[in-house]
Amino acid sequence: MIVSIASGKGGTGKTTVAVNLALALEGAMPIRFLDCDVEEPNAHLFLHPEIERSEKVSLPVPVVDESKCNGCGKCARVCAFHAILAFSSRTIVLPELCHGCGGCALLCPQGAITESPKVIGEVETGRAGDIRFAHGRTGIGSPLAPPVVKAVREALDKEGLGAGLTIIDAPPGTSCPVVASIKGSDYCVLVTEPTPFGLNDLGLAVGLVRELGIPCGVVINRAGLGDEAVSAYCSREGIPVLLEIPYDRKYAECYAKGGRLVDDFPELRGALKGLWRKISASGESGAEGEDGRREMGEI
Ligand code: SF4
Ligand code: SF4
Repeated sequence: MIVSIASGKGGTGKTTVAVNLALALEGAMPIRFLDCDVEEPNAHLFLHPEIERSEKVSLPVPVVDESKCNGCGKCARVCAFHAILAFSSRTIVLPELCHGCGGCALLCPQGAITESPKVIGEVETGRAGDIRFAHGRTGIGSPLAPPVVKAVREALDKEGLGAGLTIIDAPPGTSCPVVASIKGSDYCVLVTEPTPFGLNDLGLAVGLVRELGIPCGVVINRAGLGDEAVSAYCSREGIPVLLEIPYDRKYAECYAKGGRLVDDFPELRGALKGLWRKISASGESGAEGEDGRREMGEI
């Protein structure tokens, strides 16, 4: 099963939920953790993986042979990203804008375009205890996150999916890197906070996962901090609130020190195992109707 953990905005506790869910389930089943937040990966700060392999991610960027180019302009017309400009005297490639689609080389009637790899990021794989781990980083100045996300998602594929759970820590927001991260997931957990900003961005995230046809549920972090508007929204939209994590200074202090919540607070370990039970049950009967607040009341 592939479960992505996403949020409409940064700073909601998405990585905290993803990391601690993995730790709570470690040993109970094979776990693969993919940190797809490639512009700001930080799951490794909590999981401390031992990195075994590192690979560059590159894109094929066109190179124009001026001696063959006749300035016809076909390459510029086909490029949706304005990454190649054709003038009568010269054809110029703007590598920062190129998405490596290969269209210009395919269509050039003169065979004047070849391709050269341009490094846009890096993927590292390893192990954190019993958890298989992969994360990626975009190169400095590289605006292209989706290909690096794709490389992270493929990094552990050669080991085979097998049984168990793949947890994807998605980037915040609702842009292309998020789509690349969560597409194909069996379930998406949306982490939010009970504030007007949290509610606004949760609405955007729900719109995205519905567009992608991914079932979703909500984790409300820092519950008690704001108001009940997020709960009311979920109720109106028929979205299950899977878990509420109370607003508590001790959790924030643990996070700030790079600590693992499930190690210091056994009640959260139990709550995250409960979260997994609801997610796994959702495939059979739907997670609707489960009440995360009741679960936290028990712990
Ligand atoms: S399509 Fe080929 S020949 Fe035409 S301008 Fe581009 S590089 Fe030159
Ligand atoms: S490879 Fe694709 S994105 Fe890059 S310049 Fe050519 S057409 Fe544009």
